[in-house]
Amino acid sequence: MTALTTRQKLEILADAAKYDASCASSGTAKRDSASGRKGGIGSTEGMGICHAYAPDGRCISLLKILLTNSCVFDCHYCVNRRSSDVRRARFTVREVVDLTLSFYRRNYIEGLFLSSGIIRSSDYTMEQLVAVARSLREEHDFRGYIHLKTIPDADPELARQAGLYADRLSINVELPTEQGLRRLAPEKDGQRIESAMAGMRDAIEDGSDASRRYAHAPRFAPAGQSTQMIVGADQADDRAIIRRASALYSRHGLRRVYYSAFSPIPSPSSVLPLKRPPLMREHRLYQSDWMMRFYGYSAQELESAADPATGCLPLDIDPKLAWALRHRDCFPVDVNRAPREALLRVPGLGVKAVDRIVASRRHRRLRLDDVARLTRSVAKLRPFLVAADWRPVHLADRLTLHIAHPPASQYELFP
Ligand code: SF4
Repeated sequence: MTALTTRQKLEILADAAKYDASCASSGTAKRDSASGRKGGIGSTEGMGICHAYAPDGRCISLLKILLTNSCVFDCHYCVNRRSSDVRRARFTVREVVDLTLSFYRRNYIEGLFLSSGIIRSSDYTMEQLVAVARSLREEHDFRGYIHLKTIPDADPELARQAGLYADRLSINVELPTEQGLRRLAPEKDGQRIESAMAGMRDAIEDGSDASRRYAHAPRFAPAGQSTQMIVGADQADDRAIIRRASALYSRHGLRRVYYSAFSPIPSPSSVLPLKRPPLMREHRLYQSDWMMRFYGYSAQELESAADPATGCLPLDIDPKLAWALRHRDCFPVDVNRAPREALLRVPGLGVKAVDRIVASRRHRRLRLDDVARLTRSVAKLRPFLVAADWRPVHLADRLTLHIAHPPASQYELFP
């Protein structure tokens, strides 16, 4: 077998990393300037660089790769599983460090996202991931962003070391329910994943406490921890996914839960669905996640927005509108009197618009025109708002028009 060049390894290991949604820039069409008749400029297939949002909100480019796509585990949904017939490759620690530094110096990237299949053992793999981060930070004084995937079964001391070098750590829960995990990733242990997350939460809290007290205390994963759930690989509906996400946020203080619509992989296992779920389902889950984090909805409230027949959020309208349609008694809301929390529930009103409304109404009673000036589109808001010169009529009739929506089609995949 001929040895692979670094470029060949990069092709394989960047492609293998694309299934991780934690910092995705996926969804675009394939275009490559090399294939055109007259050439061109740019490519959407460049290897290994993706975009993510830094803790301060900046969009940054990351080198997103696996250390290796070999794995001793056999998770059914994973292209890198032991029984998968894919080309394998493995970077050395030195190769990842050199690639990161050379991409960084050329201004291609601002950080590294590094994950790995499990080689030999969880501890050995974790040691390799930590060695990359340690070398970057200590030997090369690398100041860029580092996101490391952590392996739940690994020695907690290794996770602690990872937190000293990485900005963000993540442990994937993979599937929303314990049954799903048992069926599709039998070698993984849901309890162990949760306890690794709990350990990480404690270490992050201790780290941030120490940095508040002592100026020179070492930082521990200052960008917190995150996780990823695969959507549509098992039978879990959106209600189960929302419930799990909410529990993860409250139990482990996660910064983000990422949702990744299951995408069919080469040589798939027979227990997997044949088609991917609609990408819109993933989008609706991100919207519901946003509603939990920024609009004050509880998981139970969001669950009530789901279609009772399928347990999934409607695909044709956003979850905020779906919730409003199922809770008409909460509307219309008076822009001049309603508390901020009630205004945040008006479909079409975002956090900034609500804050502008609350600030403006201190000075005068707002009319519909005033609301229009403070928001992007007043048309969507009208059925839900009362203003000084506006009260909606035929509210129930108008809302009834939206209530019928088709059930999510992916459930046909699980007869
Ligand atoms: S442990 Fe990770 S890399 Fe290995 S098969 Fe499972 S999901 Fe894939």
